[in-house]
Amino acid sequence: MDNLDHTPIIKVEKEEKNTIWIKREDFIPISFGGNKARKAIKFFEVIDAGGYDAVVSYGSSSSNHCRIVANMAAARRLKCYIIGPQEASEETFNSKLMNLFNAEITVVPVDEVHNTIENKLQELKLLGMNPYFIPGGGHGNIGTQAFVECYEEICEYEIENNIKFDYIFFASGTGTTHAGLVCGQLIHRDERNIVGISIARKNPRGRDVVLESIYDYLKEHNCSIDNEKIERSTIFCDKYVNSGYGAFNDEIIETIFSVMKNHGIPLDSTYTGKAFWGMQEYIKEHGIKDKNILFIHTGGTPLFFDFLKLVGEK
Ligand SMILES: *Cc1c(COP(=O)(O)O)cnc(C)c1O
Repeated sequence: MDNLDHTPIIKVEKEEKNTIWIKREDFIPISFGGNKARKAIKFFEVIDAGGYDAVVSYGSSSSNHCRIVANMAAARRLKCYIIGPQEASEETFNSKLMNLFNAEITVVPVDEVHNTIENKLQELKLLGMNPYFIPGGGHGNIGTQAFVECYEEICEYEIENNIKFDYIFFASGTGTTHAGLVCGQLIHRDERNIVGISIARKNPRGRDVVLESIYDYLKEHNCSIDNEKIERSTIFCDKYVNSGYGAFNDEIIETIFSVMKNHGIPLDSTYTGKAFWGMQEYIKEHGIKDKNILFIHTGGTPLFFDFLKLVGEK
């Protein structure tokens, strides 16, 4: 797929006097979509152009990124090697899919991951192969670029529909999605609130990682924007992480069931469901009223089924 068509934006509800819209990144038409698909499409443009014959990446057994990378590699008959941490290696629908795509998965203790990746790349080169390394989660300027483009899609939608989103909310993890959206806003000199709802990291580290990605991207693209403006535009909310990555509460369960029943949209408990609930809490706590609010559905559909299985068995 060379060109990504714009993903749809749909109006879902009026709530607390605000109107909520959802941008369906889960509709990106490859491997169940999501933000990792948007990033992977960019990485594979580089891979396709560069004559690589293998792909190496990193992630846990529940990684949406690894599932999509393994799928796109399989579709090209490229060998795919995934290095995963032992600490998060239980079977999930994503790991079943990685196996289906014949990815070779190496599980090691988390502190050996870095060396294992280096060794794997070295080993493949010694065999005369030309491997490409995709950072975990599709991190880095290529991943950031994918979400600068997503931001631009949002702007085009606003012009075509004569609407302005006052807020953009989404699940923020490694920070590339967040960084891309903020860079898009800075480059286009827009004013609005872009709020990343952290799904795991706490401040200051979580926000610092987003800022690092923003500075890296702006530097590579020779954009000079003052630091004060960059700082002010980067809102990383760590209030709704619960006890960390993957942890969820009864309100998140209720949110997921309610969005599925009322709108037919699957959310999961690690990313989108947690962020959608966090967004609702943020709106209440900040007394936000009469605004147009866009939630970006960053995908992760197989995790919805992991969630159903888990909650159903409780
Ligand atoms: C990875 C992921 C995120 C977080 O994206 P980052 O760019 O890592 O911040 C959000 N939602 C889903 C479904 C994801 O898989």
